[in-house]
Amino acid sequence: MGVNFVVVGGGPAGVQAASDAARLGAHVTVVEKDVLGGAANLWDCIPSKAMIATGGMLALLSKASRMGIREIEPHPELESIKARISSIIDHLERSNRDLLSSQGVKVVRGEARFLDPYRVAVKSVEGEEIELGGDAFLIATGSRPRVPDWAPIDGVRVLTTRQAYPPPAIPEHLVVVGSGVTGVEFVHMFRTFGSKVSLIVSRQHILPQKDPEVAAALEADFLESDVKLYKGARAKGILRDEDGGVVVECDDGRSVAGSHCLLAVGSLPNYESLALENAGVQTDERGYIPTDHHCVSNVKHIYVAGDISGKLPLASVAIMQGRKVAEHVMGLDSREHRHLDYDKAASAIFTEPEIADVGLAEAEAFALGRKMRVTKVPFAANARALINGDPRGFIKILSDPATGVVLGGSIVGERAAELISVIALAVTANLKVADIVESLLVHPALAEALAEAAD
Ligand SMILES: Cc1cc2nc3c(=O)[nH]c(=O)nc-3n(C[C@H](O)[C@H](O)[C@H](O)COP(=O)(O)OP(=O)(O)OC[C@H]3O[C@@H](n4cnc5c(N)ncnc54)[C@H](O)[C@@H]3O)c2cc1C
Repeated sequence: MGVNFVVVGGGPAGVQAASDAARLGAHVTVVEKDVLGGAANLWDCIPSKAMIATGGMLALLSKASRMGIREIEPHPELESIKARISSIIDHLERSNRDLLSSQGVKVVRGEARFLDPYRVAVKSVEGEEIELGGDAFLIATGSRPRVPDWAPIDGVRVLTTRQAYPPPAIPEHLVVVGSGVTGVEFVHMFRTFGSKVSLIVSRQHILPQKDPEVAAALEADFLESDVKLYKGARAKGILRDEDGGVVVECDDGRSVAGSHCLLAVGSLPNYESLALENAGVQTDERGYIPTDHHCVSNVKHIYVAGDISGKLPLASVAIMQGRKVAEHVMGLDSREHRHLDYDKAASAIFTEPEIADVGLAEAEAFALGRKMRVTKVPFAANARALINGDPRGFIKILSDPATGVVLGGSIVGERAAELISVIALAVTANLKVADIVESLLVHPALAEALAEAAD
């Protein structure tokens, strides 16, 4: 008979789990209320990185003279940019649909809610209701932007992250509220499009979760490109001025005027529509669903993956959770790397310079009183960085002084999101700094700085 597996939510977590479980022999149904690929494809990862890529191209072209090319004055065309983003999203949606259909996965368009622990009802967009039964379920319904009650979102001048990639217009002066990863990516993207940008930073530095040295490098770059930082200020209200512009009021008495305001102040889990009480699934006080290390909720055949699990809100983590769920559903959870170690997840910030890190951070090691060997190499001495015309940033590697095992690392600089893979592999596989040093790398390459930093 095979396992009947019902996946609620077709974002990265849901699609990965459905595809892997089908490949392993399950009968799989995915219920998705919007588009396959989820918020990740529609509003978050894909449009953000596509806009950032266009902004990067603009920045590069305006620096062409540094490469010996006559000055170029590029102009962004928002309608063409939007069309490009739509075509990427359509392409990815089609790929997901083709993949699932080639594996025999049934996709039902509609909103699911639990009737009991073994059945969901799906209300289709046409208003019809069907019932689906299963032996195992995955809840992968993701999250949405948090909107504080003082923020008059209108999608025109006052935006959430879902309304900004792509934006209704290129703002003349954007005020970004929130200086975490999402906020700083917006700052970076809009400054490359020529907007004046102000950033409201509730603490004393941006990126509070990151290595302070990394955050300082990005701050310095922001300041150099005239981004205005309002530190130690919490936004508490947004007023509109006579010209239709915005004035963001802060709790320290300062107010910041701009043409548009963008809120990047965290997210909330999508659990309300699911009627979890009918299945007996418990949430924490914020609405996230706690799980064990196999992504199982308090109900043993109901799994949870992606943002709704309240772990790391990254598509890469959601995908890996989806994989682990499929293996566990199909009884294949006895491999060497069977548990997900969230402390070893690599992450990146697609600013310029790019930022990426993995594993233990220096400040964290220091706080834990842990002995650590920290080695750091600037890109300024790297031939490829000089050839590429961007020698900003550095690579930092943390290792155990006794064994040489790599414990973590941070990279600031061009291609940081790609280069971090080497340190991530070392951290996951318990490789030593010597393993990186001994690798015969390409010359000239940015990766040579990895070997030097490991040495
Ligand atoms: C601006 C921004 C940029 C980001 N960039 C990156 C990045 O570069 N890299 C990265 O790794 N992460 C990035 N993230 C995070 C990433 O988008 C999320 O971690 C990822 O989308 C989580 O995937 P998921 O599968 O949990 O959920 P989602 O992608 O949110 O998908 C959940 C799906 O469930 C559906 N759904 C919800 N309720 C129901 C229901 N009751 N019935 C049926 N369907 C339902 C929704 O329609 C949705 O399609 C970014 C986030 C933001 C906000």
